[in-house]
Amino acid sequence: MTPVAQVIDGRRIADDILAELAGDVAALKQSGVTPSLSVVLVGENPASQIYVRMKTRKASELGLKSDTVTLPQNTSQEMLLQVIERLNRDKSVHAILVQLPLPPRIAESEIINAIDPDKDVDGFHPRNRGLLIAAEDTFVPCTPLGVQELLVRSGFEPAGKHVVIVGRSLIVGKPLALILAQKGRGGNATVTLCHTGTQDLASFTRQADILIAAAGQPEMIRGNMLKADAVVIDVGVNRISDPNSEKGYRLVGDVDFESAKKRVQAITPVPGGVGPMTIAMLMHNTVKAARNQMRQ
Ligand code: NDP
Repeated sequence: MTPVAQVIDGRRIADDILAELAGDVAALKQSGVTPSLSVVLVGENPASQIYVRMKTRKASELGLKSDTVTLPQNTSQEMLLQVIERLNRDKSVHAILVQLPLPPRIAESEIINAIDPDKDVDGFHPRNRGLLIAAEDTFVPCTPLGVQELLVRSGFEPAGKHVVIVGRSLIVGKPLALILAQKGRGGNATVTLCHTGTQDLASFTRQADILIAAAGQPEMIRGNMLKADAVVIDVGVNRISDPNSEKGYRLVGDVDFESAKKRVQAITPVPGGVGPMTIAMLMHNTVKAARNQMRQ
């Protein structure tokens, strides 16, 4: 009989985290602080609009204060910087998130550098990135933190394992490699980071005890590129056209789920794997920002 992998339920694990956070939110409210998240959305990118709605809805469900600053596509860099400055100064705002990507005219790095690092719940500000490298307390970017939590809470501790990550972006692959290799809970893995310069990618993915795909390439990792007892975390979210679907498209990951699940020990689905964890960790970082600012 062909073995079928355990499907790791990211929604359930994210719900557990949100239930735990609800206690922290109640305690903060008792001290007179309601954690507050401001999301800035520039333009009308449909995927960004969906992500922002999902984030603010989850924040409201958790009892946080959340608002969205929506700006037109032709917003100038100066105008956006003024909005960030206003949010930085506003003591009732604990957390700021600028939804990426921004229109090409705006330099993303200039905007990220302008966010108050104490409110930078995405963990993209250079100060927070530096603290992450130094393994000091900081805001860890939400998707990498979500992947780490997902592994730990589903019983697949990275410690001592060979983790192979495909993708070296600043928001997923690189910070993920750092936190999984660091000493401590959820770390102590041996990490290999693959990218487009990697020769013979399959020879690396086949060595992975834990394979994490974050390349943005639909279904590029196939079952025959995986070790039989591997644990697979699929970060990728790709739209592929599907005339049979009402919307005309469907979402797939970077892993070919059908061939992989016949081979590996466990795998996350897309959607319903890493996505809900990313949002849960944004809530975690927002609560942390509020708590830190209360102490200042
Ligand atoms: P980027 O495009 O910024 O980075 C992709 C990385 O993958 C790059 O390092 C690139 O290498 C590498 N790569 C691309 N193609 C290949 C290939 N054929 N072989 C080896 N390496 C390859 O993407 P992101 O990191 O922003 O996102 C990755 C995926 O994760 C996307 O599908 C995105 O939608 C999804 N995502 C999902 C989130 C969630 O919450 N579920 C959150 C964030 C992202 P190189 O550096 O050499 O170009």
